[in-house]
Amino acid sequence: MTRRTTTVAIVGAGPAGLVLAHVLHRAGVAVTVHERLSRAAVESAARAGVLEHRVVEYLRVFGLADRLTAEGERHGRCEISCLGERVLVDYGALSGGVRHWVYPQQLLLRDLIAAYQQAGGSIAFDRPVLGVALDADGRPVLDTADGPLHAEYAIGCDGAHSIVAAAFPDGADGPGRRYPYDWLTVLARIPRPVEQIRYAVHADGFAGMMPRTADVGRFYLEVPAGEDQEAWDERRIRAELHRRLELDGGDPAPGALLETGMLRMRGKVADRMRAGRLLLAGDAAHTVTPSGAKGLNSAVADAADLAGTLLAELSGGDGGDGDGLDGYQRRRLDAAWQTQEFSEQLLDLLHLPAGLPPAERGFALRLRLERIRRIAAPGPEGAAFALAYAGAGELPLPAMWPSAQGGAVATGATGR
Ligand SMILES: Cc1cc2nc3c(=O)[nH]c(=O)nc-3n(C[C@H](O)[C@H](O)[C@H](O)COP(=O)(O)OP(=O)(O)OC[C@H]3O[C@@H](n4cnc5c(N)ncnc54)[C@H](O)[C@@H]3O)c2cc1C
Repeated sequence: MTRRTTTVAIVGAGPAGLVLAHVLHRAGVAVTVHERLSRAAVESAARAGVLEHRVVEYLRVFGLADRLTAEGERHGRCEISCLGERVLVDYGALSGGVRHWVYPQQLLLRDLIAAYQQAGGSIAFDRPVLGVALDADGRPVLDTADGPLHAEYAIGCDGAHSIVAAAFPDGADGPGRRYPYDWLTVLARIPRPVEQIRYAVHADGFAGMMPRTADVGRFYLEVPAGEDQEAWDERRIRAELHRRLELDGGDPAPGALLETGMLRMRGKVADRMRAGRLLLAGDAAHTVTPSGAKGLNSAVADAADLAGTLLAELSGGDGGDGDGLDGYQRRRLDAAWQTQEFSEQLLDLLHLPAGLPPAERGFALRLRLERIRRIAAPGPEGAAFALAYAGAGELPLPAMWPSAQGGAVATGATGR
């Protein structure tokens, strides 16, 4: 049997894996992508839908955002309601023009897969990687249904239960938090598009309404941690959404419920994203709650940094700041913690503390209203929230990429 080899073996065809594969492949690197699910399954799972400004700008450079920018919507405002007051946060204005794009994750994945294949790349769908070992030289060997695959580098873009992370000799596990509540998630048909994200801070629990497409919206309801989904029939879901979101005649009320689920609310950051020639990107290294819409965006930001760093490494460089792949790990772990901190602040704002006596809820809500008004007002707090929320700044382009002249580098507050 011939020995199967590649330069970069990517495990997982989610946003992180596909963006990384695309950039490396376009730069002439031999790449393999293994995905355990079928193409149809990857292209149909509805998850994220709110894309940061800098992520879309990065995708544009590689011609990966044509459909997204043609069919997606730009959003620069959200509402946060509390105690009957609906506060408009015009983060597009507060940030000086930085806005989100709204485009469902499954459509983005469809576009990324098509573009990768068009560029001559191929993805092994229905091909889980069963294990990763290291040979005598510390090079990864992937166990696949087609036999062993020998690689120079193996990249775990394989989500929260990463098989690549499991192969780190000293483990990758880092600190995590299980929140004292969960979110019931609903995907529903809507009669007209959700104009802007609405976060409802409510005595009975948070509720959220997020745009997805012209006729589908994403809704969230805070429920007690570990809640059984069976406890929530359709009537109860509708009633709570109407009550907490204070839906009125002007709002797109949820029609047919297309999908409901329970999101167990957790945050986690790995202790490391590199062990020799094994690397992690995206959810494989960090999971964040959807409160600030950061999961998919962080995954692409990891992929962008790793693509440039690997290309520099493969061409004998150092990845830009002298410490090669260790620099990737350092930058992206810092960014992961910044993202967790941003999302945690938002969660604190959106939820009342667990176990708060009913008599004290009015006080806690009124404090939150103060904070919401501060975020919505011009000034340092409003600007800081707006820039982080919409994803200001730029993701780093590979040094040799033509549009990288001028040096887009993700650092500091905008490196999240
Ligand atoms: C309900 C919900 C709403 C969300 N909303 C948002 C949002 O609004 N904005 C946002 O930014 N994020 C959001 N997220 C988070 C976002 O979807 C994830 O953070 C993002 O998909 C992470 O991308 P990834 O490429 O790291 O991992 P994934 O998308 O999880 O991709 C990993 C891939 O690896 C494959 N895989 C796993 N193990 C193996 C193996 N052994 N062999 C081969 N393949 C394997 C999996 O099948 C999968 O396709 C949401 C998530 C959920 C669940």
